[in-house]
Amino acid sequence: MKGFLEDANYSIGLLDEGVHVGDVIDSCIYEHTLTGKNAFFVGDLGKLIKQHIRWQNVMAPIKPFYNVKCNSTPGILEILAALGTGFACSNKTEMTLVQDLGISPENIIYTSPCKQASQIKYAAKIGVNILTCDSELELKKIARNHPNAKLLLHIATEDNNGDEEMNMTFGTSLKNCRHLMECAKELNVQIIGVKFHVSNSCKEPQVYKHAISDARCVFDMAEEFGFTMNMLNIGGGFTDYELDLEKVNHVVSPLLDTYFPEESGVNVIAEPGCYYVSSAFTLAVNIIAKKTIQSAEPLLSKLEQTQSDGQAFIYYMNDGIYGSFASKLSENLTTIPEVHKKYKEDEPLFASSLWGPSCDELDQIVENCLLPELSIGDWLLFDNMGSGTLGEQSAFNDLQRPPIYYVMSVSSWYEMQDAGFTSDTLMKNIFFVPSCVQLSPENSFSIAA
Ligand SMILES: *Cc1c(COP(=O)(O)O)cnc(C)c1O
Repeated sequence: MKGFLEDANYSIGLLDEGVHVGDVIDSCIYEHTLTGKNAFFVGDLGKLIKQHIRWQNVMAPIKPFYNVKCNSTPGILEILAALGTGFACSNKTEMTLVQDLGISPENIIYTSPCKQASQIKYAAKIGVNILTCDSELELKKIARNHPNAKLLLHIATEDNNGDEEMNMTFGTSLKNCRHLMECAKELNVQIIGVKFHVSNSCKEPQVYKHAISDARCVFDMAEEFGFTMNMLNIGGGFTDYELDLEKVNHVVSPLLDTYFPEESGVNVIAEPGCYYVSSAFTLAVNIIAKKTIQSAEPLLSKLEQTQSDGQAFIYYMNDGIYGSFASKLSENLTTIPEVHKKYKEDEPLFASSLWGPSCDELDQIVENCLLPELSIGDWLLFDNMGSGTLGEQSAFNDLQRPPIYYVMSVSSWYEMQDAGFTSDTLMKNIFFVPSCVQLSPENSFSIAA
C-alpha cells in the first residue's frame, strides 16, 4: 500500500469528507488479497482525539498519563504527545520511545510494580523521577539506584471481586505504608504521593470511596513523617463507553472535593490506557482453513437456536492468541467479528468456532457464534483491537505484528487544530486521501499515492 509507510516512517492517511474508514478497509483488503492475504490493522487516530476531548470535558482537572503498555505504536504515541497527555511507562523501552518524542521527563512516570535495577538507573539518568513502589524490597532497590526518586506509594484496592487468587494483585496495605515510610526516612528517599488502580472489571463506587479515603490516610500519615505530599494517581481501568467515564467522575469528583480539595494543592492524575486506544483499531484477518462438523459434536449442542440443519464449522484464521489476540488470554473480551464479504440477509447461518493458526488448544478466539458459511480466503473484521498487544514489548514479540494503516478524517484533524493541538511531526507524516480518488477495488490506494 504505497501511501502508507511502516513503523519509524509511519504515515497517516487524512480522509477527505465522504471517505470513510470502511472504504480504507475495503481498499486494504483488495490490496492484501493480491499480495498474500496477510492480516492487518487499520487505526483510526480520530478516535483518540475524540476520547481526549471527552476526557477534558468530563474528567478535568485530572491530568491523564497514558499507560504506554496498552499500545506503543508510533501513530498512537505521536497523537497523544500532540494532545499533551503525560505518559506512564513500565520499562526502559517505553521510556525511550516516549523520550524520543521529545516529551519532557516531568511528563513521564515509571509505574511498574516490579522494576529492573538497571532500568531504575536509566530512569534516574534521563530525569524520570516519579516512580511507584509497593514493597520494602522495591523501596531499597530504588534507594540504591535512583538518588532523586520521588515515590508514589501504591496502595491496594478491593477490586479483585472475590477473586481468591490474589497473585496478580499489586499494592500494599495501609499498615505496611507506615513501615515503608519508616524505611524511606532511614534511606533518605522522598515520598510525594499515592497511587491506586481500580481494574475495569470492577467499577463499584465503594471501591473508589475506600481507595480515596485510604489515600487520604496515607497522606496524613506521611505528613506526620515530614514528607511533602502533592500527587494522587487514581490509576486506569476506564473503558471507552460514554457512560463509564461519567459514572466514575460522578463518584470520584465529590470524594476528591472532600479529601483532596483544590486548596490542598494536590495534583490528581490518572493512567488511562484502554480508554484511549481500544476502539481505534480494527484487525482484518483471513480464513486460512476450515472444517465441517456434524451436530453430534459439542459445539452445536451449546447453541440454542440454529438454522443450520445440524452443520457447523470450525475456521482457522491467520492471527490468534500468539499474535494480535494475546490480550484475550487475560481479558476474554473478543467480540463477534464482522464478515467482510457481502451476503444476503436470508442466507442461512451456521454455528461457527474461530481459531488462530497455532493448532494449540488455547488458541480459540471465538468459541461459538452464528455466521454465514465462509470460504477459505474470506476476511473477518474484529473491532476494538487497539489495546493489549500493540507494543514494542508485546508478549509475543517474535511474531511479526501485522502492518498498521493509520487514518484520520479531515474533520478530526480540524477538531484537533480547533482545540489548539498541533504537531510538526504529525504534519510531516500526513498524506491526503481525496474523495475524488474512488477507493474502489480497481482504483485503490496505490494509485492515490
Ligand atoms: C495497565 C495498567 C493501567 C492501565 O489500565 P487500563 O485498563 O488500560 O486503563 C493502569 N495502571 C496499572 C497498574 C496497569 O497495570
